[in-house]
Amino acid sequence: MDRLMEKRAPLRTAEVIAVGSELLGTTRLDTNSLYLSGRLGSLGIRLKAKSVVGDDRRELARMLRAALERVDLVVLSGGLGPTDDDVTRDAVADVLELPMAEDAAIVERIRARFVKRGLRMPEVNRKQAMVPRGATVLHNPMGSAPGLMIEHRRNLVLLLPGPPRELQAMFEGLANGPLKERAGNERLFQAVLYVTGQSESHVEEVAQPLYSRWRDAVPAIETTILAAPGQVELHLSMLSDDSDRAARLLADARTELAIALGPDVFSTDGRPMEEIVGGLLARRRWTIGVAESCTGGLLQSRLTDVPGSSAWVTGGIVAYSNALKWLFADVAAALIEEHGAVSEPVAVALAEGIRARAGSHIGVGITGIAGPSGGTEAKPVGTVAIAVAGPEGPAHVRTFWFLGNRTQVKFNATQAALDMVRRMLL
Ligand code: ATP
Ligand code: MG
Repeated sequence: MDRLMEKRAPLRTAEVIAVGSELLGTTRLDTNSLYLSGRLGSLGIRLKAKSVVGDDRRELARMLRAALERVDLVVLSGGLGPTDDDVTRDAVADVLELPMAEDAAIVERIRARFVKRGLRMPEVNRKQAMVPRGATVLHNPMGSAPGLMIEHRRNLVLLLPGPPRELQAMFEGLANGPLKERAGNERLFQAVLYVTGQSESHVEEVAQPLYSRWRDAVPAIETTILAAPGQVELHLSMLSDDSDRAARLLADARTELAIALGPDVFSTDGRPMEEIVGGLLARRRWTIGVAESCTGGLLQSRLTDVPGSSAWVTGGIVAYSNALKWLFADVAAALIEEHGAVSEPVAVALAEGIRARAGSHIGVGITGIAGPSGGTEAKPVGTVAIAVAGPEGPAHVRTFWFLGNRTQVKFNATQAALDMVRRMLL
């Protein structure tokens, strides 16, 4: 089987069709295609399109026909169960015009699964043993529905079970075997770069002249710019059969971008901000304590998401009320009276107060208006004052005006605070 497949043209493009009426509703999301996209990509097979279709034999047949025209590899997920609404097997046999026959070995395997649980196999399960002529049966170690692999002219068609655990286990087997053989020698290589404090269009302005050059180069580097919470991400990817060369070209491109974008670039290896800051603190053997108002503990939470963070996080307080700002961070009522709770002097006092109380090298103070109410003309919703106090010199303090809803303002405030700490540590 494998030898026969090696002679065929390599698989370069793929389409995923997720089957299941529940995936068209409001409660279930198709996640299998996300997993498959990543795994296919690493095999050098590009996902060209994906779709979701209900348990509808004719609709699925229509989609499969279109997919067979478009791409080399079609991966169908779901609809291999024993019930009437599981139609994938039938639809594929229709389109490829393949007769089906019951596979006795599969029936026995399914029967054995039931017997093991002290049950009798219902007759409907025989449906899962129907195999189109010429198909290869893929063993399902995690469930009852076997998968199927069908060579059809220039196409390869995979039928995989819907439950993500089952699909993934089966796909891993294929990726290390027949799919790897068929995939050709090219693999997808990727690099990322995260920027904070700049809008997507600012990043685009700086990056575009660079990446438009790489897009037309041989081998080409594809660049995508994505806005994510608190950061803009640049994703670089390249298809290559030479991993050393690809790694070098991608690293060079990433370096060029990092130089052009400057110190707003905080991660060039996919690590999130809290991990970058944690790494910098660990390297200096410094500790950090934080006093948060409007972020309600989110900064502490992010800092402690990093494994090993007890080495650099001392802890801190959520001081929502003025009384607690005084009680735990020594922020005088008179100072709040004079400048308002959301102000740079109060942020500085929070940072210095918690730094002294916690006995940490760095203290962070955050105070702001997360909204949706509480804004004024002078201090609209999204106004956040952030201060970082360190062992040297006066505290750094800035006022930000974040856009977005309450959740976004809170997250962006923690991202900005972490970034201020990062800059102090550079
Ligand atoms: P089974 O033998 O378990 O019936 P099946 O191939 O018929 O296998 P489905 O009945 O379609 O699979 O789906 C089973 C479960 O897997 C459901 O809980 C469903 O929500 C989940 N599932 C199906 N397709 C997807 C998908 N594309 N992404 C995420 N989950 C999925
Ligand atoms: Mg289903």
